[in-house]
Parts: sequence; C-alpha cells; structure tokens
Amino acid sequence: MAKKMVYFFGKGKGEGNARMKELLGGKGANLAEMAKLGVPVPPGFTITTEVCTHYYENRRTYPKGLRDEVKKAMGKVEEIMGKSFGDPNDPLLMSVRSGARRSMPGMMETVLNIGLTEKTIPGLIKKSGNERFVYDAYRRLIMMYSDVVMEKAAGIEPKDDEGIRKQLEKIMDQLKKQKGCKLDTDLSAEDLKNLCAQFKAKVKTQLGKEFPDDPNEQLWGGIHAVFASWNGKRAVSYRRIEGIPDEWGTAVNVQAMVFGNMGSDSATGVAFTRNPATGDNHFYGEWLINAQGEDVVAGIRTPSPINEATKSEQNKNLASLETAMPRLYEQLDAIQKKLEKHYRDMQDIEFTIERGILFMLQCRVGKRNGPAAVRMALDMHKEKLIKTEEAVMRVTPSQLDELLHPIIDPKVEKQYKPLAKGLPAGPGGAAGQIVFSAPDAVEWTKQGKKVILVREETNPEDVEGMRAAQAILTARGGMTSHAALVARGWGKCCIVGCSAMHVHLAKKEVTIDGKLLKEGDWITLNGTKGNVYEGQLTMMDASEENQILSDFLKICDKVRKLGVRTNADTPDDAQRARQFGAAGIGLFRTEHMFYGKGSDEALFLLRKMIVSKTEEERKNALAELFPYVKKDIKGTLDAMDNLPVVIRLLDPPLHEFVPRDRAKLELLAQDLNISLDELAHRADALHESNPMMGHRGVRLGITYPEVTEMQVRAIYEAAAELIKEGKKPYPEIMIPVVCDVKELLDQFEIVKRVYKEVLAKYKLKKIRNKVGTMIEIPRASLVADKIAQVAEFFSFGTNDMTQMGFGFSRDDIGGFLPDYLKKGILPKDPFQSIDQEGVGALIRIGIQQGRKTRQDLEDGIGGEHGGEPDSIEFCHRVGMNYVSCSPFRVPIARLAAAQAAVK
Ligand code: PEP
Ligand code: MG
Repeated sequence: MAKKMVYFFGKGKGEGNARMKELLGGKGANLAEMAKLGVPVPPGFTITTEVCTHYYENRRTYPKGLRDEVKKAMGKVEEIMGKSFGDPNDPLLMSVRSGARRSMPGMMETVLNIGLTEKTIPGLIKKSGNERFVYDAYRRLIMMYSDVVMEKAAGIEPKDDEGIRKQLEKIMDQLKKQKGCKLDTDLSAEDLKNLCAQFKAKVKTQLGKEFPDDPNEQLWGGIHAVFASWNGKRAVSYRRIEGIPDEWGTAVNVQAMVFGNMGSDSATGVAFTRNPATGDNHFYGEWLINAQGEDVVAGIRTPSPINEATKSEQNKNLASLETAMPRLYEQLDAIQKKLEKHYRDMQDIEFTIERGILFMLQCRVGKRNGPAAVRMALDMHKEKLIKTEEAVMRVTPSQLDELLHPIIDPKVEKQYKPLAKGLPAGPGGAAGQIVFSAPDAVEWTKQGKKVILVREETNPEDVEGMRAAQAILTARGGMTSHAALVARGWGKCCIVGCSAMHVHLAKKEVTIDGKLLKEGDWITLNGTKGNVYEGQLTMMDASEENQILSDFLKICDKVRKLGVRTNADTPDDAQRARQFGAAGIGLFRTEHMFYGKGSDEALFLLRKMIVSKTEEERKNALAELFPYVKKDIKGTLDAMDNLPVVIRLLDPPLHEFVPRDRAKLELLAQDLNISLDELAHRADALHESNPMMGHRGVRLGITYPEVTEMQVRAIYEAAAELIKEGKKPYPEIMIPVVCDVKELLDQFEIVKRVYKEVLAKYKLKKIRNKVGTMIEIPRASLVADKIAQVAEFFSFGTNDMTQMGFGFSRDDIGGFLPDYLKKGILPKDPFQSIDQEGVGALIRIGIQQGRKTRQDLEDGIGGEHGGEPDSIEFCHRVGMNYVSCSPFRVPIARLAAAQAAVK
C-alpha cells in the first residue's frame, strides 16, 4: 500500500477535509475540517479506512510503513502540545476512537487516557497537581482497555455476560458502598489509587495477562481494538439493520486527550445546533461539570442543560453552562453557529472544557427524528440556508412516516395519571408488554406480541431488541444517551432517565414510583411528553392537520413532476386522502362496496345477480342493484369533486361472492324462488380451478354485457346528477384484466352507447370523462400500441403484473419468499417494491408502445407499489403521470416523488 495512510489535523491545519468521509470516516473528515476552520480541536491524526480493509484482507495485519507514518504524525502532535508521549515528567495522553463513513453511535470501541503507566503517573500528578484526577483517569483506562482490547478484541466471550468490565464495576460499587459514597466523584485519591491496584489484580486473574505498562503497547492495542470492533457483534448487527456495507471499514482517530474532569473549572458536554427531538431552532444540549465525555453518553449522571432557554421539567433545577461558565458558553455558542452555517445542517457536537479552555472533540450531521427533520428542513429553507431541492432531500420517507404515526388518544390520556415521567427522547405513543432484555424483545415480537423494552440503561448490545420493541423505557440517561440517540435515529417512541423507576432484572420486575410491575404487564408511553402509564391506552393516528407537515409537502410539490393520487373506495377515504394532498383517485375498486360496513343489501343483490341463470333474471337483479352502485359512486365522485376518479369495473371472479353459510343460501334461494339444491348447483358451476386467471375482469363483461352496462350507467348517471347539482365530477372508467384491444372494442361499444343515453336523459352536452384500461397482463404491455388506439389512459396494475410476470401467485408467495430472500435470489419482495429489471421492463414497453399511438396517453400505477419510495422513483424515471396509493401513504408519495425529481 503505497498510499498515504495517516492524515494529521490540528492547530489550524488539516491534511483531510469534510469531503473525505470515505477515506477518513465521518469523525476524521470533520476533525480535519474543523481544524481548518480555526475551531479549537485537540491535535491528532486519522488512520484511513483503507488500512482497515487491508487489515481484514491480510489476516489482521497492517500495511508496511504504517508505524512510521503514525510515529511522524505523533511527533507533530507532541510538538503542538509541547509534551511527549510516555514522558515521565510531562506525559502526553492520547485517545483512540473509531469513525466509520456513516455514524454508528456506540457500536464500535473507544479507549481514552492512553499513555498512563507506572512511570508517567507521578509526572502527571506533579504537573496537574491533582492526584485524584490522575488515578481516576487511570482506573478509566484500565476499565476500558481491559474490556475493549484485552477481552473483546481478543475474542474472549465471557460467561453469563459477566465480562471484565462488569467485574471491575462490581469492585468499584463495593468500594463506594464501603466508603458510603453515592457518586464516583465522592471517592478520594487514595480510594482510587487502591481501586486501580485492585483492578489490575482482577485483570490479571480474570484475563490471565498483565495490564500493559508500556505507552506504545497501549496505543497499538487501542488501534487494533478499534479495527477489530468493526467486526464486533453489535457493529455487525447495526450494519445489517442500517444497510451499511461490510467492506466500508472504519477509520481510527488518535487524538491528544483533553480532560473535562480536572476539577470544577472543567466540564464536558454533547450538544446539537438545533433540538434533535423537535427541530426547534435553539442551541440544545447537555453538560456535566468535572466529568469525561463517556459520563454524558453512558447516562450515569443526569446531565445539566446547556442553556436557560432549553431547560426541561426534569433538569430545570440544574445549573446551565450559560450561567455557570458564561464566557465559555458564549465561545461555544459562536462555534456552534459557525459550524451550522458552514455545514448548512444541524450539527451534533462534543466538547470538553479543560481548566477553563474549550476544545471541540467532534462535529457531525446530527441524527434527528421525523418531526424534527421536517421542521428543520422547512426552517432552514425559510432562513435561506438551504435551497428547495436540498430541503426536499433532508427528510427521508421513513422520517416522514413518523409524523403519521400513532399517538395516545388525547381524550383517553387525559383520564389517566402518569405513573412516572422521564425525558421525552423519541416522540409518538406506544403500548406494549414489558420485557427486560433485548433477546426477549426479539423473541416476543417474533411471536406477534407488542413489547416495550424496559432497562436500567441501554447499551449498544441491545440494538436488536430496541429495534424489535414498540418503544424503549430506561431509568437512567439523558437526551443524548445511547438509547435516546438510537431510538431517535429510528423514529421510535422512547423515554429515558425515568428516575422513579427501578428495574429488578433477576426477578423480571420493575417498580415505577412504588408500583410493582412484572414481565408481560402492559404499559403505555407518551414519548413526546415523557409520560409512562400503566395499562394499555388507546392509540390514534397523529393529527392530519399538521401545519409544518403540510408546509413541507408544499415545498415537495414545487419540485415533483409525478402526480399523486390515492386508492380509495369510500367517500371517507377519499376525503382523508384529499386532506393528505391526493390529486384524485387512481383506483376505485368497485367490488369493495360489497364488503365492509353497511354492504349487506348490496351484497345480497350482487349474489342474486351472480347466481341468476337467464338473462332476464340477471337483468332484474342488476336493476335492483343499480341504485346502490350509483349512490356509492356518487358519494366518492362528490368527495373528489373536480379531480379525476378512476373507477374500475368489477374485477374479481364471481364465485368469490357466493355465500357459504346456509342461512344466507336459504334466503337467496327463497328470493329467487328456486330450491336450495338448484342454488348449490348454480354456485358450483361458478367454481374455477384457477380463478386468478379465470372468469374475471373484462371477461365478465364480455360474457355478461349487461353487467358492464349497469355499472357504466351508474357512473355516468352519478356524474350527471352531480353536474345538475353544480358540481364538477370527473370519472375515468377503467376496464381491468385486458389482454387484447378487441376486448376493449367490445366493451367500448356499450360504454359509448350508454354515455349518449345518459346525456339525453339528463339533457347534457357533455360529461367530462375518460375511458381506459388497466395494464396488468404482460401481453397487454407488449401490444399496448394497439390497446392505446382505444384506451384513453393506462393504469398499470403492478400486483397482477408481478404475479403474471414472475409466475408467483400473489396469495401463495409467503410459502417460499423467505427462502428466496435468505438465499439472496431476490433482493426484496417484488410485491412490495417493483422488480425494476423484469416487471419494470414490461412497464417501460407498455408506456412506450402506448405513447407511440397516443402521444398524450395518461399513465399511472394502481398496484400497491405506488406508495413505496423506490418504486415511486422508478415511476418517475419511466415518465408516468401519477402514482396512486393508500390515503396514509399519500404524503410519503409526495416526498418520494419530489426526491425522485431531485436525484
Ligand atoms: C393490480 O393488479 O395491480 C391492481 C391494482 O389490481 P388488484 O390488486 O385489484 O388486482
Ligand atoms: Mg389486478
């Protein structure tokens, strides 16, 4: 490897920059950028991700020359710091941290305070004048190093989860008890010195090796552990969930230590340039006096608020940095403003104050939940910090989905008193049964249960359980604790720092404000307020009247080219979809009026029609059915007034509607005046071996033209009546399951005749309408040029097109799909996300052929894919006019369509 492997940063200089994330990882790239911007950063260097790749490709060894490059960079750090690594008089201490291209919070390793040894300890005590601080740093080094380097990186799997870190924590807890101390900070220098000796002895007995006393051995041990942690269990799990490729690798950042735990003029904190939970434009964060960074993130002490403006119910009595260290706060505030302006996005920053001097340790684009993402995109756009296209790209479809997520029904919530309150780390509501471990959360969820993961605090090992759970509740930690960060990234309901809660893990019990709850008991969380309730409270969908959401979607609408309609079959759904911004209906499935509430009479008449034997019988039944169909269609056309409504004629095979229970059969026989035997005989005759490819769709209309006629008449009369009432209905009649133009010609004769009759009946000159077809059979795509001679619009039925394109039954794919996915034969379920290669090719051909004949042919999609972001992007690329999806997906489709236009 001849390439440069180590990049230096510090004192106004950086060999890398923010655009080099692939090579330097996010953290390294941003440290270089910050250094260049003149932000105070402790000097250090980044070992590239290419070294990580080499390490894994070469049996965990380093490329030649790495040690020399590290040594050189170390020399520059020593020069800036005016100290030397390993110097017994004034030792320089270093930190070693991971840094992947994309942030993987807490998933990889860190070792701090590297360089403390028997030889350097006295020097540092002398220099710092603070023996307590030095031994505190030393015990942290032993804890981290033994855990990360000597145990995890060495591949040692501790029994019963009783690893070295836990053992050492136990020793420390014992000492605290003995000394009657509550906090770590209550331990004296002497206590800590003894503790370090005990720690080292324990490391030796437990791991069979001495704790290394050589600075360079510590340094390389740390570097090795970070590279090894790329393939650690939790990092691998996280990558699977987040879709991060294994071959990216991590960089390693080696940086001079600065200390936030050198007394009451020192501190450390984590902050965001805007509130990551709400998007509110206020500098927001947490800090701890006299502490190291890990204390804030680990949630061991409840941190204080960074300023007065963002105090919460939980931390209002703690001193803010703004009041405790006003000059430093001002400096920090200026830096955060500079960083946000420079990066043009919300930044997540870490800082440390060492004896009154401020250092920035990290900055990166901050993770945020859905509501915050939308608000920030909108605000930054208004502030002219970002352009319209950027604003659109700042919110992912799944973040938007969070805004449409359930909350506790406010009316119900009012009647309950919370058991306890915690910090509102992830908004929305969730109800579930209590589980206490991540594996249980995964297991119970597999069994179809809804669970809430309840923990004292979460650590990165819990990711899979956190993912599976409906929500997460922890007793400790702040808004920047691991649980909060991870949950926020996923848009999951989460409450942390619920201090009234005590978990008794061994007994699988928890007391919340004195109330005892057991595994399996129900609780409900309001993650927006931080309230915990006993029992299962009713949930409801979030407000459809969200101003911020609708403003943001208006920006999306400016950018997108693709129309967004909805699949709806009732006036209520149509109304809701319209509020969500649907510009019409892309698919009204007529048959749905025969299911659901209030459909009994219509269904009875439909059945009568189905089992009719003679044309006369059938016509009578159709005449009775007519007013029901007309009324139903009229309601929906009215709800979508002035917008197009694609109404599809009856599609499913008729025998699906034949009743099975005896009472219903008897009633039907009576009404038709035939025997039960005769009825059974007629019903049997409708049976088909392969109904999906049987007598359905247009084929029904070919055999029973009167069925088509009744429906078409109902549509036109409904429209005519609405016109008479001063409305502007716009029906688009769609004939399904067509494979040849002649089928359409046959049906169009009926349509045209009925149209004229209705115009005459209502004395109208015109009813705005279109007549078209659903393209859902592969052959139809191939002969679409001919079909377009008759059809005025196409709607691609990608459900059936996928079924017939693959030859996979829509209803039976569940039996083998999991194996196809597991073996990587299919990348995803083709019924959820369009198979762009195969089914996609059929669609392309359909559109091209169709437009060859009719240039302005309107093309849309009516299959379930119309609400899935990747499929929407595909629809944009192939030049469709609109996508259509269920009402609740409409906002997501508007965003996905806009993003497709920007990409
Ligand atoms: C389709 O096939 O994609 C379609 C929209 O029709 P249905 O799902 O009703 O068969
Ligand atoms: Mg279909």
